[in-house]
Amino acid sequence: MPQDATPNTPHNAVSVNGRAYEITDHAYDVIVVGAGGSGLRAVVGASEAGLRTACISKVFPTRSHTVAAQGGIAAALGNMGPDDWRWHMYDTVKGSDWLGDQDCIEYLCRNAPEAVYELEHWGVPFSRTEDGKIFQRAFGGMTTEFGKGQARRTCAAADRTGHALLHTMYGQALRHSAEFFIEYFAIDLIMDDEGACRGVIAINMADGSIHRFRGHQTILATGGYGRAYFSCTSAHICTGDGNGMVLRAGLPLQDMEFVQFHPTGVYGAGVLITEGARGEGGFLRNSEGEKFMERYAPSAKDLASRDVVSRAITIEIREGRGHGPDGEYMHLHLDHLDPDLIDERLPGISDLARIFGGVDARKEPIKVIPTCHYNMGGIPTNMHGEVIAPKNGDPDAIVPGLMALGEAACVSVHGANRLGSNSLIDLVVFGRAAGLRCAELIPKGSAIPELPKGAGEASIARFDGFRYADGGTPTAELRLAMQKTMQRDCSVFRTKEVLEEGVKGIKKVWDDAADIKVTDRSLIWNTDLIETLEFDNLISQAAVTVQGALAREESRGAHAREDFPKRDDTNWMKHTLSYADYGKHTVKLDFRPVHTYTLSNEVAYIEPKERVY
Ligand SMILES: Cc1cc2nc3c(=O)[nH]c(=O)nc-3n(C[C@H](O)[C@H](O)[C@H](O)COP(=O)(O)OP(=O)(O)OC[C@H]3O[C@@H](n4cnc5c(N)ncnc54)[C@H](O)[C@@H]3O)c2cc1C
Repeated sequence: MPQDATPNTPHNAVSVNGRAYEITDHAYDVIVVGAGGSGLRAVVGASEAGLRTACISKVFPTRSHTVAAQGGIAAALGNMGPDDWRWHMYDTVKGSDWLGDQDCIEYLCRNAPEAVYELEHWGVPFSRTEDGKIFQRAFGGMTTEFGKGQARRTCAAADRTGHALLHTMYGQALRHSAEFFIEYFAIDLIMDDEGACRGVIAINMADGSIHRFRGHQTILATGGYGRAYFSCTSAHICTGDGNGMVLRAGLPLQDMEFVQFHPTGVYGAGVLITEGARGEGGFLRNSEGEKFMERYAPSAKDLASRDVVSRAITIEIREGRGHGPDGEYMHLHLDHLDPDLIDERLPGISDLARIFGGVDARKEPIKVIPTCHYNMGGIPTNMHGEVIAPKNGDPDAIVPGLMALGEAACVSVHGANRLGSNSLIDLVVFGRAAGLRCAELIPKGSAIPELPKGAGEASIARFDGFRYADGGTPTAELRLAMQKTMQRDCSVFRTKEVLEEGVKGIKKVWDDAADIKVTDRSLIWNTDLIETLEFDNLISQAAVTVQGALAREESRGAHAREDFPKRDDTNWMKHTLSYADYGKHTVKLDFRPVHTYTLSNEVAYIEPKERVY
């Protein structure tokens, strides 16, 4: 076991709501919340630099959602044809539909090859070319010569790249003296009166003990919030807890209206059924037996782009032509195909359909629904991972002591839409950058300032409030209402009317949460209570997402408004900042300019072009 780097002071007792809670205090130079790809990369960087580093994770590190990433990690290595980081940058800017900050995109693409070689040296078992180089595959939107050819840029370890990456980095993190607090749930940030972050307060889920961590830098690497939707490809743990903590601290989230969807997730489970299924001849049918894609995309039909198919399915469902008792899903047919072909070309799909959908895809249709896949929005940061929030006229003012990384953060390199394989590279490039920044900012061995008096007690009171919540509505019921509202009113089909319904619906769920009911009062593995804390994080994120989507009267990237089909650079080439009022359950919006400049003069600013679909 890594040694405990600092003396801890156990047993400070506090009394909240008339009940006593014991607090154990910890002090570290760097506290990383999250042990996915981005968190672990920052842990390795900070501990390698000799900083006393703690990593808090609500699940065992290698169970983080990064483990599920299959396709790969983008970097212009040029192993399988010509490539250049400038082409990667061009593709990323174009993919972002000109909402990404180009200085940060330059940083990402320029540093990507080095970050991948570093992973290779640490032992990530990449697939190899004949001559032993890292294997790279083609991915949508990744081009050569500024859009002319198809690039092979996505480095892969078979179809388990995230798995390989996460396991390797966990091993690296253990080589250094980082200390892991596993199955600890971070509840809230500890902020001081000057608006600086001083640490985080967490609960050890196994025994219910409360832990207060103070440090020079706190890094949120808590992942996305796919679970705000009824159907998502991400794990149950993807509840955006860091984003919720940031909103509660009175800080903004950025570009939350941009949510990427995949058209065919298994109904109820969200697990992805790849486009390959339709590529092999699969098709969609509504409850009237119609192959409706012929109507929406007469030539491409079922193989139209993800956005088009997702929107078509959603319209069919909204207009009452879905399958099932509530008309909530579509049928994807593979049952007309030769069973041998299914076994040979789509074995994984038959397994997924059987395990998660309960059907034999060779004999019956698979129930599918458009599914939330990635959150472009998150905690605004600069390219060093430092959290920013407008202050005294500076749109990029740094929040001292606080950093954010990975899917929880919005750097913003993905802008309005993320290209496949650009998330994994974002994790390691900016995870590394954050480690370097910590080494720069924190003098080694320096004293860690004491916390303000009563730090974290308000968070314990909130926690205690939920623990004894005695209303009439179970958390699961509220969560389902939120998820269904987001799925219906804030997914791929967006109009003013639909989004207004969404705003109302989410406000109602948030208000109804006053009547929340938690049955388990214990502190030992109280999943009822933890899910309630997660729900409380999700509901504020749902509120800012739908409010941001209603406000943005244009179509850009993944945000497609039927009533405003064009991108509007004059009025909307700007980042949305959203603040949530936890008392009134309302949202306030503000904006931040997009960086229309690059980092170096080696590349010029890429001027906006027509929207690309
Ligand atoms: C099915 C799937 C396939 C994908 N495929 C690809 C791909 O091929 N290429 C690509 O580039 N991207 C892919 N993505 C996207 C990419 O995998 C994710 O965006 C990325 O892995 C997120 O990493 P992360 O470090 O931000 O967080 P995660 O890996 O989600 O980890 C979050 C961490 O935070 C911790 N945490 C959260 N809340 C708390 C709390 N309250 N207290 C303590 N700890 C907490 C968790 O324990 C966990 O360790 C895919 C995503 C999915 C869902």
